[in-house]
Amino acid sequence: MSTQRRERRIAIVGAGPGGLTLARVLHVHGIPSTVYELDASATARDQGGTLDLDEESGQRALLHAGLLEEFRPLSRPEGGELRLLGKDAEVGFHISPPQDGDGNDRPEIDRRVLKELLLGSLPEGTVRWGQKVRAVALGAAGRPELTLADGTAVAADVVVGADGAWSRVRPLLSDADPVYTGVSFVDGLLNDVDTRHPAVAELVGRGSMFALADEKGLFAQRNGGGRIRVYTAVKAPEEWSRSGLVDPADPADPGARRTRRTRRRSGSGCWTSSPTGTRGCAR
Ligand SMILES: Cc1cc2nc3c(=O)[nH]c(=O)nc-3n(C[C@H](O)[C@H](O)[C@H](O)COP(=O)(O)OP(=O)(O)OC[C@H]3O[C@@H](n4cnc5c(N)ncnc54)[C@H](O)[C@@H]3O)c2cc1C
Repeated sequence: MSTQRRERRIAIVGAGPGGLTLARVLHVHGIPSTVYELDASATARDQGGTLDLDEESGQRALLHAGLLEEFRPLSRPEGGELRLLGKDAEVGFHISPPQDGDGNDRPEIDRRVLKELLLGSLPEGTVRWGQKVRAVALGAAGRPELTLADGTAVAADVVVGADGAWSRVRPLLSDADPVYTGVSFVDGLLNDVDTRHPAVAELVGRGSMFALADEKGLFAQRNGGGRIRVYTAVKAPEEWSRSGLVDPADPADPGARRTRRTRRRSGSGCWTSSPTGTRGCAR
């Protein structure tokens, strides 16, 4: 009889901040894992905006990951500044940038920067890029089995779903389906804001700006590298976003009007709509 013990195969689906943090914490404890990620690489797409890491959640996770000290110089505590505006751009409410020691410890960090920190702390090959998980099912002896988009079957002992809103793992545990809330977001980037867009930079400050009125919303948040990310919230049917109906050439399209303005001013030329992630770029 063999006394050798086989290492458990841990499969994490999704290389977002959640999946990568788990892989890192396991690694710190000497436990290998494999992360399956549909993106072709870490730089395959724009990684989105900034995340605020609470002391009790995000920072605690980084502490267990042994990365809290490396995180601090990459983070932006001043990103806690917040302004609420009316549609006339008058500031109705303002939280000043947090100062050292005032108890507001929720520094911001760009998603891209956080993911780079986590990826750099993992052994080579931990993340399998371009490996979309199509389904997860219980196979022989009740062991979970992943089916990848190319049909490959991957056996595992433990599967962790860290694959976001449209998780392929969640159906094993729950019948819950994501439900469209009726609001779609179109986001764009303003580059080099302090030089090229000083009025916007002043309005947004070091953190975030929310302008909400008449069931519409314009949100802007400062990202690292002198950039501001702008989200336009539009009440629209789900198909509006899903079918790529954000048509920059259509003067009647509510999202497109704002997107065009953002695009003209930023010169960035590309935008993304949520919840579907439809992307478009200027021709
Ligand atoms: C528009 C918007 C604005 C937000 N703004 C903020 C903010 O200002 N501050 C803040 O703190 N949080 C914000 N959030 C929330 C934040 O983005 C999430 O809390 C965070 O991304 C969750 O991380 P995660 O790792 O669990 O999932 P995700 O970041 O969703 O990562 C999931 C990963 O799984 C991959 N994946 C998905 N399906 C599969 C599959 N089938 N096979 C393989 N891989 C797959 C994806 O490509 C992705 O890399 C915002 C979210 C949205 C949508």
